[in-house]
Amino acid sequence: MFSLLARSVTLKRLASQYGMTPTGFARRFIAGETINEAIDAARVLQGRGMHVALDYLGESVNTIKAATTASREYVQLIETIVASGIERNISLKLTQLGMTIDKATCVDNLRRILEPAARHQFFVRIDMESSPYTQLTLDVFETVWSLDFRNVGIALQSALLRTEQDIRRMNELGARVRLVKGAYKEPASVAFQLKADVDAAYTRQMRLLLDHGVYPAIATHDEEIIAETRSYAAERSIGPDRFEFQMLYGIRRDLQASLVAARYRMRVYIPFGKEWFPYFMRRLGERPANIGFVLRALLGEKTG
Ligand SMILES: Cc1cc2nc3c(=O)[nH]c(=O)nc-3n(C[C@H](O)[C@H](O)[C@H](O)COP(=O)(O)OP(=O)(O)OC[C@H]3O[C@@H](n4cnc5c(N)ncnc54)[C@H](O)[C@@H]3O)c2cc1C
Repeated sequence: MFSLLARSVTLKRLASQYGMTPTGFARRFIAGETINEAIDAARVLQGRGMHVALDYLGESVNTIKAATTASREYVQLIETIVASGIERNISLKLTQLGMTIDKATCVDNLRRILEPAARHQFFVRIDMESSPYTQLTLDVFETVWSLDFRNVGIALQSALLRTEQDIRRMNELGARVRLVKGAYKEPASVAFQLKADVDAAYTRQMRLLLDHGVYPAIATHDEEIIAETRSYAAERSIGPDRFEFQMLYGIRRDLQASLVAARYRMRVYIPFGKEWFPYFMRRLGERPANIGFVLRALLGEKTG
């Protein structure tokens, strides 16, 4: 149903008209359409003791020109972040950099970003997209790793059957992993279908990363898994400086604040940019209650 909604032209039109106004409904999850709005959001969060990662939204670019433009925009973004003085941490999607065209284009574009990023001590996280891209994403990652880029890490999804093996490989390389449950609907041939199985895999993989990984990011809003991570780390004397929690902008802000109060590292992923619709639809799809929130806001905006 959500993929259908995500393709709905009417919904997209309504969303772009009303979603990103100063009080628009999409602002709960997206910092804004411009880098300056994202930087303002980052400053507020840093003021509350949180770490940040900026994500310039965009995906599924199909021409070399558009992919090159996206990589140039990322380079500008790096300069703007440096000038702003906020934390130097960004996240990106490889389909934005030409992965759907070919691997070489994508590697070239990624290198164009990683070079200035390394010069300015940025950390760059590669998001994981849907399963047709898993292997390709890992191949591109290993290619830049073999070129000695070390300011880069990857996201892995516990929903996928293959992930435990991928984690072992990343641990062997010494690469930093962000563990997520996975935001895409995947077939049974490649992914667990039951939430309980995804959660159990996440917990196993969290342990594997805490025991053998390099500064893993436990990226979830799941209170039980967060509690389990805290007790597993405490039992093994793994200090709160050896890993971090990550959550999405606007989601479980109470839990974000309570982890900071308990002196854990908490990084908030801040999405921004004009291409916010697919990201927004994934957030709605995760939680039906969000739809009521959006509809109420939409009606309020249209009549108000
Ligand atoms: C920092 C970060 C980076 C991410 N990067 C990627 C990536 O690269 N690739 C990828 O596939 N996925 C990524 N995700 C998304 C992830 O895969 C999940 O889709 C998302 O985090 C929801 O799963 P959960 O772990 O919070 O657990 P869930 O079991 O889905 O949710 C647990 C609880 O969190 C709250 N919650 C979760 N989602 C929402 C929401 N949308 N709105 C309101 N409350 C919510 C609810 O209270 C819910 O009960 C990322 C997530 C985070 C936090």
